Amino acid sequence: MKRKTFLQRIALGGTGMLLAPKLMATDSFQTVSRKPLILSTWDHGFVSNEQAWNTLMTTNNMLDAVEQGVRVAESDPKVSSVGYGGLPDRDGNVTLDACIMDSNGNAGAVSYLQYIKNPISVARQVMEKTPHIMLSGEGALQFALNNGFKKEDLLTPEALKRWEKWRETSDYKPVINIENHDTIGMLGLDENGNLAAACTTSGLAWKMHGRVGDSPIVGAGLYLDNEVGAATATGKGEAVIKEAGTAIIVEMMRHGYTPQQACEEMVQRIVAKQKDAEDFQVGFLAINKEGQYGAYALHKGFRYAYHSEAVKEMKDSRHHFADVKDTY
Ligand code: ASP
Repeated sequence: MKRKTFLQRIALGGTGMLLAPKLMATDSFQTVSRKPLILSTWDHGFVSNEQAWNTLMTTNNMLDAVEQGVRVAESDPKVSSVGYGGLPDRDGNVTLDACIMDSNGNAGAVSYLQYIKNPISVARQVMEKTPHIMLSGEGALQFALNNGFKKEDLLTPEALKRWEKWRETSDYKPVINIENHDTIGMLGLDENGNLAAACTTSGLAWKMHGRVGDSPIVGAGLYLDNEVGAATATGKGEAVIKEAGTAIIVEMMRHGYTPQQACEEMVQRIVAKQKDAEDFQVGFLAINKEGQYGAYALHKGFRYAYHSEAVKEMKDSRHHFADVKDTY
C-alpha cells in the first residue's frame, strides 16, 4: 500500500467506516454562535444572507428567509454559477438545479430546469404543491409555467461571450476551479433551533447537456434533519453524490461529531476513496441545532458567509491539501 493511502486509511480509522468521533487537529476551531444564524457558501452568500436576514426579521419564517436569500444570487446576472447569468452547458444551454428543505424534513427540488430565473421557488412549490420531491427538465418547466413563473432567456451576453471563448478550445474536461463553479448553499437556524436550507446552481460550466449535479439531490448537495443539523456542498458534484456527502455529514453529527469534524471526515473520505481528489475542489458547510458550525474543503479558496445578529462577515474555510494550486 502506498504510504499516502496508508496514512489516509489511518485517518479514517482503518476502514473508512463511521467511528466514534475523534478529536481532530482542527477541533479547537469548532465555533458556536448565538441563534438565529444564517450561513451560505461563497462571496455571493454575503448579500444573499442579508436578504435572508431581513426576510427572517419581517416574516419570522426561516424557510421564507433561505428562499428569498438565495434568490438574490439567482437573480444577479454577475453571478455566473447560479440562476440568471449562469454559464451554460457545452451546447450553450443554461440548465439549473435547486433543492430546498424545511424543518419537518420536507424537500422539493428541480433539476435540468431551463428558462426560469428562480429555480429555488419552483423547488419550494414542488415541495408544497405536489406529492413528489423532484421535477426535472420539460416537466419542471411546465410545472413552473403552470404556477405563474415567467419564461426568460437566462443566457446573458457575458455568459454567451465566455461560452464562445470556451468553444475555441472546447476542453470537455470538467475542470473544477474558481472560474466554473460556485453553487450557493444556505443554512438557516432560527431562534427556536429550527432549521431550513436551500441550494441552487447552474452546475458545472460546459457540462454535458443533460448533466445533473449534486445540488438538487437530497443527501448530496443538501441535507437537513431538524433533530440534528444541516449541511450543504459545493464543488465537483459527482464527487459529492458518490459519498452521499451531506447526508453522511448530518449522520456523523447525529453520532456526536461537531460540524467541523463531520466536514473534515467527509473530505478525508473523498481523499481516501477518490484517486483524483487532488485535481478537483469540493467544499462542505454544516451547522448543528446548537448553532455550532464548520466548513472544510479539499483545496484552499473555499469561503463562506456568516450572518448573526451581531456579526456579518466572510470566513475562509480550512482545507485538506497543503499544496496550493493557482486555480483553486
Ligand atoms: N456542485 C455543483 C455541481 O456539481 C457545482 C458548484 O458547486 O458550483 O453542479
